[in-house]
Amino acid sequence: MGEDLDRALDRLSVAEAERDAAQDRVAEAARAVAGAITGRSAGGAADRDLARVLYWDYPDVPVPVVGALLGVATNRVAGVVGGRVVERPCVNGCGRMATWTMRSRNESTSGSTECSTCAEERGDRGLPRGWAMRPAGS
Ligand SMILES: [Zn+2]
Repeated sequence: MGEDLDRALDRLSVAEAERDAAQDRVAEAARAVAGAITGRSAGGAADRDLARVLYWDYPDVPVPVVGALLGVATNRVAGVVGGRVVERPCVNGCGRMATWTMRSRNESTSGSTECSTCAEERGDRGLPRGWAMRPAGS
């Protein structure tokens, strides 16, 4: 039993060290990205596209860095780059996909989301959001 714990703790130490090293590499790479785009202007559509990619696909690039690229304040970045449409299986388990538009990075992606078909059917029956009850006998 004691040996199992020792081995498990050893594995935990190794895994934690690996995670810390990976986090250091992520931070270093994010700084390199910030350095590489320093001085670029926000004039062209290409830079707005880049800003959008950085904002949505590279969460380790700080929002102020994206703001500097765009030449806008940090609190305006999400509005300037625009929302992103996200898809996930309907919370009701109906097998359809539910889509919604995330407005900012900070928005939770774990909220319950139902597909438009379930939302319509629920609405017709006056059920609260997130409820999908089959009619009796079906
Ligand atoms: Zn559904």
